[in-house]
Amino acid sequence: MTTTETLIAAADAHSAHNYHPLPVVVATADGAWMTDVEGRRYLDLLAGYSALNFGHGHRRLVAAARAQLDRVTLTSRAFHHDRFAAFCTELAELCGMEMVLPMNTGVEAVETAVKTARKWGYRVKRVPAEMAKIVVAGGNFHGRTTTVISFSTDPEARADFGPYTPGFEIVPYGDLTAMREALTENTVAVLLEPIQGEAGVIVPPAGYLRAVRELTRERNVLFIADEIQSGLGRTGRTFACEHEGVVPDAYVLGKALGGGIVPVSAVVSSAAVLGVFGPGEHGSTFGGNPLACAVALEVIAMLRSGEYQARSAELGEHLHRELGGLLSAGKVTQVRGRGLWAGVDIDRRLGTGRQVSERLMDRRVLVKDTHGSTIRIAPPLVITKEDLDWGLDQLRAVLAT
Ligand SMILES: *Cc1c(COP(=O)(O)O)cnc(C)c1O
Repeated sequence: MTTTETLIAAADAHSAHNYHPLPVVVATADGAWMTDVEGRRYLDLLAGYSALNFGHGHRRLVAAARAQLDRVTLTSRAFHHDRFAAFCTELAELCGMEMVLPMNTGVEAVETAVKTARKWGYRVKRVPAEMAKIVVAGGNFHGRTTTVISFSTDPEARADFGPYTPGFEIVPYGDLTAMREALTENTVAVLLEPIQGEAGVIVPPAGYLRAVRELTRERNVLFIADEIQSGLGRTGRTFACEHEGVVPDAYVLGKALGGGIVPVSAVVSSAAVLGVFGPGEHGSTFGGNPLACAVALEVIAMLRSGEYQARSAELGEHLHRELGGLLSAGKVTQVRGRGLWAGVDIDRRLGTGRQVSERLMDRRVLVKDTHGSTIRIAPPLVITKEDLDWGLDQLRAVLAT
């Protein structure tokens, strides 16, 4: 057996099979490239589901992490530490908001947003006890906890995990009429991805986010944007909501906020909303730890320059032009997305998304399929145009055969 086969067999024997990874075993990585245990190099067109927006081992981020490792890494929130104030201030400023509640993984931040909306509903909006409702969209992906899968519409994510948490109303994504009808006096929040990532990079109809913003404002309902995957440069702007000039009541952030080094997530909102929490009412041992704050501060500084957003916009235009060529050639049936982010539906006669991903892997390009016939392209924003073009050449070659 090769080293790759041995390691995969051992992983299969001793890890739960809750993933179906491509058969590549990564040993090292740099920028947009990963090297496997056999020394083969692969172009990374997934970027850790956008957790690696700045690529692997970005010098600035690694330096920030290293410097913090030598100072202090964990205090718990029982004490203050000297990176916390800057992290909260600068993240709030980047978001045009006032307050930050830091957590670790994305789903914890979504849970935090759910708790925030409910508490705000009871304390501020005065919804009767236990009656708070949150409206979400079909096809959503907000994470994997029992409460969050309670409002998933994906049978695989839900089956055999009940009983489910009540208090959620699901409406079709992009359907404004359904959204309007779903809102009642007891609705405390609308929770949406401004672009649905896991569903296949689904961009809502033009004007939808703006209309949801107006509707929620009129009805005294919080608009919570889950920008865990769409945010922090991925779409060519800091936030995907910006494409419609929308400012939500709260952002939920994660993935790229940790620079691909540590899990860092947060809810970012106004003082009127996040001010509902008192001591002991919510928390996390690792949330807002010094190492997380140091890395995230560097991420924020990098985003402040606008350089990565501009890169995503420019290379994204190129990416979508090239993918448009595959569409005209009849190799793919639909292409969606914004910036360096695309969901590509493969003509089923050419293979499943999984098969195309495997053939791309044989040509040293790594992507991930979703929902049968879709592949998702989300390179690190630091990718060069030459590398991106090489990756697209491999996709064309795979679809030509
Ligand atoms: C990935 C993701 C999450 C969950 O993040 P985890 O860090 O995996 O818990 C939530 N919402 C969206 C939109 C995501 O893409």
